[in-house]
Amino acid sequence: MSTATLLDQLQEIVGDHGWTTDEADLEPHLTERRGMVRGKTLVMVSPSSTREVSAIVSACAAHNVAVVPQGGNTGLCGGAIPDASGEQVLLSLARMNSIRSIDASDNSMVVDAGCILADIQQAAHDAGRYFPLSLAAEGSCQIGGNLATNAGGLNVLRYGTARQQVLGLEVVLADGTVWDGLRTVCKDNAGYDIKQLFIGSEGTLGIITAAALRLWPQPGETTTILAAIEQPAQAIALLSCLREVVGDNVQAFELISDRCFRFVNRHLPDSRLPFEGEGELMRLIEDGVVADVVVAKSAHEAQVLWRMRHAIPDAQRSEGASLKHDISVPTSRIAEFVDQGARLVASLTPGGRLVAFGHVGDGNLHFNVSQPPGGDAEQFRQAGSALTRALYDLADSMGGSFSAEHGIGVTKRNWLEHYKGGAEIELMRTLKAALDPHNTLNPGKVI
Ligand code: FAD
Repeated sequence: MSTATLLDQLQEIVGDHGWTTDEADLEPHLTERRGMVRGKTLVMVSPSSTREVSAIVSACAAHNVAVVPQGGNTGLCGGAIPDASGEQVLLSLARMNSIRSIDASDNSMVVDAGCILADIQQAAHDAGRYFPLSLAAEGSCQIGGNLATNAGGLNVLRYGTARQQVLGLEVVLADGTVWDGLRTVCKDNAGYDIKQLFIGSEGTLGIITAAALRLWPQPGETTTILAAIEQPAQAIALLSCLREVVGDNVQAFELISDRCFRFVNRHLPDSRLPFEGEGELMRLIEDGVVADVVVAKSAHEAQVLWRMRHAIPDAQRSEGASLKHDISVPTSRIAEFVDQGARLVASLTPGGRLVAFGHVGDGNLHFNVSQPPGGDAEQFRQAGSALTRALYDLADSMGGSFSAEHGIGVTKRNWLEHYKGGAEIELMRTLKAALDPHNTLNPGKVI
């Protein structure tokens, strides 16, 4: 069967609105946001229902053509980008964006995979409930992408990762079969927990078309505090202090290096450095746990502080090329990692500017490095590979991970092989071969 026949079949399945080969339409879908991975595609299809996804996948399977699912394309490892052959079909979930149902008494909602995360948060809020998954890309990432990458974000400390927010899934399998696992019950020990296989599988085992999500009570009154510390170890001491006082009610706990604030001040309109010497939580200051504290006095002030946090990735992008390391270590070893990691940055990328921030409450740091001002971007990236290896080795030696929350995609595939060799990678290969025997679901990603 020819490519032309497949294209005709796909057009028939999705209609004119769900089909494009136009270069300008395709452009934003063929590169990830840092421009480090770029691909081509035979066609981009945007189905509007699970039935259409199933028909597309089975038509592609019959032609032995690969399908690459794409959500909001905010992923940072190139997982949603087709390869350079121009022979893969890009499947965008963007048109599947309905909230199917919401049940406050059951604390659950059922949504299409293409729903934008911020819309899901809002729908939960409107129903008097809370959906805790939150990340800086929430205005454009989709729940299907969040689940396919097992996204983390700000509230993992209190609520867990995306994985913990799922009650059930609907998935289109490699041959087009629809698995309807959209249950909303909390307890179901009938056999293997199949849904967990697809969460974090980055589109390589099945295409998530819908999810039943767990909702939580609204958090009630929250306090947002920005504390200045001089050493990363003080952050861990502060977290421990806070937990003694409020137990597991600490919802988010982020570490932000001062360079992040300087970058944000430079690139985010209307921002200003938040510290002006007014210490408000005197005991913490007197005890030497922190150097200065600002407490948001209103929801607006809290939003301003979080806006600065969310602006860090874009601000860093404006500073030129960067090396990104999404690592995790046991929380107790964060300070040691920062200390040793900073020395590696200084020795292996002289002039490189360390931009460390992240969700340290759960041991996750974005240990990024921006190029020296005015330097050559490509040269910096190439020289950076030795640093990347050294930082991943450091995290590994501390019992941590080289990929805490962003996944593997295509850019970290070799590292997966390196750090998770042996039985673990063989198990992953066995799963992939069982669920996608002809390797047509997002081939070349993860393993
Ligand atoms: P995409 O980028 O489109 O796809 C990601 C992967 O999932 C690809 O492999 C794709 O093939 C697959 N996929 C997408 N949809 C489906 C589907 N329906 N079924 C099967 N596979 C699918 N990530 C975090 O975890 N925590 C953060 O705090 C965080 N902060 C970020 C901040 C910024 C500014 C940016 C740009 C990104 C951030 N990310 C973060 C990374 C990214 O937002 C997440 O990985 C997000 O979950 C990706 O969702 P997406 O819809 O954009 O997926």
